[in-house]
Amino acid sequence: LRAVSFLCGVTFGMPAMQKLLTKQELFERRLEIALEASGLDLWENDLSTGEVIFGLSKVFDQLGYAQQDTAAYIDDIFALMHPDDIATVKLAVERHIEGQTSRYYSEFRLRNQAGEWVWFANYGKIVDRDEHNRGHRFTGVCFNLEEQVRYKEELNALNARLAAQNEQLEQMNKELHRLANYDALTNTVNRRRLMELGQEAVEHAQRSNLPLALMLIDIDFFKLINDTWGHLAGDQAIKAVARHCEEKLKDLVTEDQTATLGRFGGEEFTVLLPSLTLADANTLANQICSSIAQQGVWLPEVDQVVPVTVSIGVAELSRIKRGGLSELIEAADRALYEAKRSGRNKVCALKV
Ligand code: GH3
Ligand code: MG
Ligand code: MG
Repeated sequence: LRAVSFLCGVTFGMPAMQKLLTKQELFERRLEIALEASGLDLWENDLSTGEVIFGLSKVFDQLGYAQQDTAAYIDDIFALMHPDDIATVKLAVERHIEGQTSRYYSEFRLRNQAGEWVWFANYGKIVDRDEHNRGHRFTGVCFNLEEQVRYKEELNALNARLAAQNEQLEQMNKELHRLANYDALTNTVNRRRLMELGQEAVEHAQRSNLPLALMLIDIDFFKLINDTWGHLAGDQAIKAVARHCEEKLKDLVTEDQTATLGRFGGEEFTVLLPSLTLADANTLANQICSSIAQQGVWLPEVDQVVPVTVSIGVAELSRIKRGGLSELIEAADRALYEAKRSGRNKVCALKV
């Protein structure tokens, strides 16, 4: 057996010797491997006849069509293309044929056997031209974009979720800001924020050598309102006084001035009045005081207007003696105490 195999030039049990590939075959094998590994489908069209010289077998396979169904003419491919994509693809081809683009690229959907649309992309170039410089052979690759489209869709969905979460976060931040800075009952600035703003106002007044006044407004005999009409009606009275003060301040304070109303606690309010002197703030306080006394407050709980008065202490920060926010509040408190002591429903003013 060994002798026979020797004579025939074949060794049993060993792989048959392969014949060496020609340069052309080697080149084809390399190309084949590259196309296989990259998932690219090579195609070539004859632009003069519109014939598909070869290619798109992988694409047709992916779309679920039988090998005999592959396109013979470019129009066979357009017949499978999504109507919305045809114009863009044709334009990209035209622009390349006319030499406006150095390469042709387009993305489009093809209908698969099941009638669904599948995304593909084409990349190609005219590889030779005739004697009139007309494109002849148009060669390129086609590849499936489904994975990219899916990633893009997933990314879009993720971005949309992120945007919705950001929106929610923004809303929560706004709500947090409101809770941290505003009083829930009256929706005026709360004591914590009032102290921050007061500190800023004091620093600004001292830096700019401008006046700064402050009011402390306290509802008179408020316990009596609670006792007579109930706690809920009492809450409504606090709210109504806050609205009344707000409206009055809006009317009375000029455009270049600011007045910040805040709930200092219980049935007490503070008004920060940058740039206002003691005399101006005193006038303003008297107007608020008499307007509340005149109008009283309407309490929805008992559906009637109830007489209410307030006492107001006013103080101004001295520009000579360096006092701070606590000195200013203490002075307004002393003035308020004086207004209470001397009869209520009135304004007392003190300079720090
Ligand atoms: P004065 O004229 O001296 O200020 O007398 P007053 O009764 O207004 O003052 P006092 O400090 O004796 O009573 C204030 C009352 O306000 C006591 C408290 O029960 C009530 N109060 C504090 N906060 C609230 C609130 O948010 N809602 C209601 N309904 N009552 C409150
Ligand atoms: Mg009080
Ligand atoms: Mg009171």
